[in-house]
Parts: sequence; C-alpha cells; structure tokens
Amino acid sequence: MKTICFREPTNENIAAAAKIIRKGGLLGIPTETVYGLGANALNEQAVYNIFAAKGRPQDNPLIIHVPDASWLSRYCENVPGCAYQLAEEFWPGPLTIILPRKDIVPLRTTGGLPSVGVRCPDHPITLAIIREADVPIAAPSGNTSGRPSPTSAGDMLEDMDGKIDAIFDGGPCRVGVESSIIDLTCQPPRLLRAGGLPLEELTRVLGEVIVDKCITQQMSAAEKPKAPGMKYRHYAPKAPVTVVTGASEESARYIAAQAKPGMGVICFHEYTAQFPGCTVHDLGPQNDKAEQARRVFDAMREFDHESVTQIFAQCPDPEGLGLAIGNRLKKAAGFHVVEL
Ligand code: AMP
Ligand code: MG
Repeated sequence: MKTICFREPTNENIAAAAKIIRKGGLLGIPTETVYGLGANALNEQAVYNIFAAKGRPQDNPLIIHVPDASWLSRYCENVPGCAYQLAEEFWPGPLTIILPRKDIVPLRTTGGLPSVGVRCPDHPITLAIIREADVPIAAPSGNTSGRPSPTSAGDMLEDMDGKIDAIFDGGPCRVGVESSIIDLTCQPPRLLRAGGLPLEELTRVLGEVIVDKCITQQMSAAEKPKAPGMKYRHYAPKAPVTVVTGASEESARYIAAQAKPGMGVICFHEYTAQFPGCTVHDLGPQNDKAEQARRVFDAMREFDHESVTQIFAQCPDPEGLGLAIGNRLKKAAGFHVVEL
C-alpha cells in the first residue's frame, strides 16, 4: 500500500481524509499529545486493522476521539455530571475519560471491556476530520507496539509507511506525552495513566483521585492491571536504563561519577557538558517540564540509532507534568530507579 501524506489543511484534504475514515481505512492523525493511528471506531474491521498494523494485543483497548462533549452520550451510558465538568474544563485537551460503553461501540474497540475511553483532541485538523466523517475515530498512538510514541509525522512514518492509507501532517506535537487517563467508573475516580494533563488539575475539579500503582511502580506478574495496556512491555531503548531522581545537581553529580565513555545520558540542558565521552541527549531546561515532555520520547528514541552500553537519565520531580515524564522514563528503565 502506498501511504498518502496530506500536508495542507485545505477543505479538500480534510474531506479526503474524512472519506478514508468513512470507508474503513487507516489514517495517521495529528493531535497535541502524540500522533494517532486512526480508524472509524464503530467499524469492527477497520478497528481490527489498527491492531494488525501496530502488532497490538487484541485486549489492549483503544481510545475513541470525539469533537466535543455532546458526543459523550452517543457512546457512553450513565454519563455523570463530573464527566461534563471535566470536559468543560479540559477539552479539547490531553485528558481521556473512562465511562461505561454503549453497545454501539464494538467490543473490538474496547478490548472486550464494558467501558470505553473517550477524548477530545486539541488539534484543529483532527477535529475537522472527525466532524466531517461524523463518526468517532479510534486511535492508539501511531507507533508499532513496543516502540516509542511518535511526536511528528516523520516519526510515525518510520513505523507505518506502507501500512496505512494516509497520514495528515499537522506539525510536531505540542504536548509530546500521551493523554492522562481518568477512570470515572469507580469511586473515587482513579488515574490510570499520568499524561499531558497534570494530576493537580484533576484533583482541583474532582476532589480525591486515586493514583493507580502502575504509574509509580513495576507491576508484578501476578497483579491484574486496572488499565489493560499497562501489562504490556513499554518502549525501552536496547541498552539498560537507570533513572536517577533527586535534586538535579545531585543527580548530575551521581551520573558523572558513574559515567564512562560509550555510555548514554539523558539530562537537563544545564548539565549537558558534564559527561565527556558519553552520548548525551538534552531533556530540556530543568525548570521547563513542558519542554521535557515534548522531548522525552525523542531523547529515548535517538538511542535506537546509536550504540551505547548503558543509559543514565535525570528525572524531574513528580509535580505537574513531572509525574508523566518520570513515568515514561521509569517505564523505559523497567522501574530501575536510584533515589538520591
Ligand atoms: P495508546 O493510545 O496506545 O496510548 O493506548 C490507549 C490506552 O488507553 C490503553 O493502553 C489503555 O491503557 C487505555 N484505555 C483505553 N480504553 C480503556 C478502558 N476502557 N479502560 C481502561 N483503560 C483504557
Ligand atoms: Mg501507545
């Protein structure tokens, strides 16, 4: 299959992309978080093709993307007031809400679950495509399973060129980590994935929020994860990764003492000159978590093209976006963390 790349957000291109969705095709969609691999969420065969193109296990559910909160009641049962409150505050934006599914949403889409994850992405091109297609777009991240999430159209084509009908290039992703996922089917609500919307924002609206264990620690083989996706191996560079937490000056000093030529280091911008002989990737300024979120997947992905024996990574504190950035780094490290 030859993959078309739409670049200009013209009405013709939006209509052509929407037609691909309506006809059951696969479309790479730009969002503010990461690029998605989209298809008509109500078409079982199209959804099956998403799983096939990614090599994704069938029980790992997809998020469905809608243009606004009025679509919640089309696809979800018993929508509580707090869901609308969250949508009012944070949509379009990096927040996925889990609610009971209506039968119109195929079990294929929800990985067999009675619930469905819904999000309204903050990207004008994708919102226009969904409205034009008039169906929700099911879209997991646009990478091959086990690879890092793509934050540009070029990243996504590395994995998907020739496997999808088209991709719409909407520029680099503004957020760079996936959406935060909040489960509203339980009380108190539970954070299943730390992402682009900080936990503090969710607690401000919802009050108490339980943070699922899978965000901060390794799941043992016997535990049944609340978020089905969490049991699958996450992206990790080929070399073993060690995450070092604590004040950034101390973690830099610790890493400098361990580092030897041939090793890899992911560090804050301020410390890039302190690891001579190492391959160093800049995570961004230590006080700019938004920039760190945009860079974290790239910083890890680049090690795929370089041979390093071992990787050390500095890690921001868990406030705000730090929870999501730290989670992505720690998952890549198999939760091998040195706490200073
Ligand atoms: P991805 O878009 O590749 O990041 O994958 C979507 C993730 O959303 C999955 O791995 C699940 O962890 C989560 N998810 C989607 N739908 C549900 C649901 N109904 N219940 C719990 N988690 C979900
Ligand atoms: Mg993913």
